[in-house]
Amino acid sequence: MIIKLLGTGDSPGTPVLNCHCKTCEDARKNKWERRRYSILIKNADKILLIDTSPDLRRQLLENRIERVDAVLWTHPHFDHFGGFSEFYRVQGNVDVYTTPQIHESIGKYLHFLSYKKKEVNAFERFSISDVSFTLFPVNHPPVEAVGVKIEWNGYKIVISGDTNLEIPKKSIEEMKNPDLFIVNSIAPSGKFKKHMNAKEALSLAGEIGAKKVVLSHLGHFFPPQKIAVRYYPVGEDNQEFSFGEGRLDEFLGD
Ligand SMILES: [Zn+2]
Ligand SMILES: [Zn+2]
Ligand SMILES: [Zn+2]
Repeated sequence: MIIKLLGTGDSPGTPVLNCHCKTCEDARKNKWERRRYSILIKNADKILLIDTSPDLRRQLLENRIERVDAVLWTHPHFDHFGGFSEFYRVQGNVDVYTTPQIHESIGKYLHFLSYKKKEVNAFERFSISDVSFTLFPVNHPPVEAVGVKIEWNGYKIVISGDTNLEIPKKSIEEMKNPDLFIVNSIAPSGKFKKHMNAKEALSLAGEIGAKKVVLSHLGHFFPPQKIAVRYYPVGEDNQEFSFGEGRLDEFLGD
């Protein structure tokens, strides 16, 4: 099974349009980007996307993905579902998994598209091509949002989704002891109502006993990528994790 971070940026992405901060200027000058949030899971030729980023067309083209077997949405914010119609134009009737409430919210925006709504409740385990998933509620006011637990061949991967640190206790139990924890962190420090800063994200990683942690959903508040990697376990667009027989390999994108 392969897990690939297609986009590690926050909702405006980096560089931010019309922003001339040090990070955004560095991104323009040195031609790097943090695109909007999508995570690719590939297992036995099946392609699954966790969230459908507004940058999805480029992300799919670059990764030579021509077909998507299923989609899972974490919450009804544009940077997590806005790109759904990017592949809908060439491929209809995709299975989309999320809670009934998140389906209802996103369905209002995407009322002109037809797709196969698969409703799953929080804490209800379900499988797609040999991989098992469990959604758990997180805290991202004012919308309902879930994180995702993925289990495959003895490995456990947890994706926090967009959340602040006030995650319900029952969800924390579900998140414990992952081999890989992909956690949202919008800035190195500072207080945010809907998100965690790096310090909070890393303390949560410690609390749940994560073996490996990757920060994602990164804002331009982080230094330029080349500097940020020296201080934080920041993810990078196209970073890939491959889970095989008893080993976890990691590749950085080009
Ligand atoms: Zn977001
Ligand atoms: Zn900026
Ligand atoms: Zn959000």
